[in-house]
Amino acid sequence: MRPGTTIQWIPGHIDLVNHDKADTQAKMACEKCLLTATSKSIPIGDLESICKTKLMREWQVDYENISLGKGNFHFEIMPQVSSQQWFKTWKSSRRNITKLIRLRTGHGLLNKTLFLYKFAPSQLCDVCGVLEDVEHILIECEQYNEERSAFPRLLESSTSVSTMFKTLDRDLYRVILTFLEYIGRDI
Ligand SMILES: [Zn+2]
Repeated sequence: MRPGTTIQWIPGHIDLVNHDKADTQAKMACEKCLLTATSKSIPIGDLESICKTKLMREWQVDYENISLGKGNFHFEIMPQVSSQQWFKTWKSSRRNITKLIRLRTGHGLLNKTLFLYKFAPSQLCDVCGVLEDVEHILIECEQYNEERSAFPRLLESSTSVSTMFKTLDRDLYRVILTFLEYIGRDI
C-alpha cells in the first residue's frame, strides 16, 4: 500500500432497497434471454446450444417474413434456414457452385435479371416472347426442345424448377449444368 492511501469502508448491498430492485430487474432480463439467475451452473456448451437455438429460431422467423415479399422462389426451394452451406461437402468447382446458386436463387444471366440491370432490352425470351427465367430455359423454351430431348434425366425431372432444386440431387445438378453448357447458355 502506498503512503497516504485512505482506507474507506463501503457498505455491503444487503438490504439496500435500490440494489434489490436492480437485482430483480437484472434477473428478469436474464430470463428473457432464456438464462436464469442460476445460469452460473450451466455448462458453456449448453449455453452455446441455447443461444444457437434462439438465434436460429429468430433467423427462421425473419427469413419467413422477408420471403413473403422478396425471395419467395428461394423459400419454396429451401424453407428452412441452415447454418451449413448446402454445397459444403460438394467437390465441385467454384464456378459451378456459383452457377447453381444463381439457378437456385433465380438470379442467373437471363433476360429476367439482365433487364433489371439494363443489360437486356426486355425480360422476355427473344424466341418465345415470354418471361425468360430459369424455368423457361430449363423446361419450356422452344429453341432448346431438340437439345433437351438429349437429356432424359432433365425431361423426367422437369415438372417445375422448384421441384428440381428442392432436392439436392447432385446427379441432376450435374445434368443441368451440362445441358446449359450444351446449349451455350452461361448462367
Ligand atoms: Zn424461349
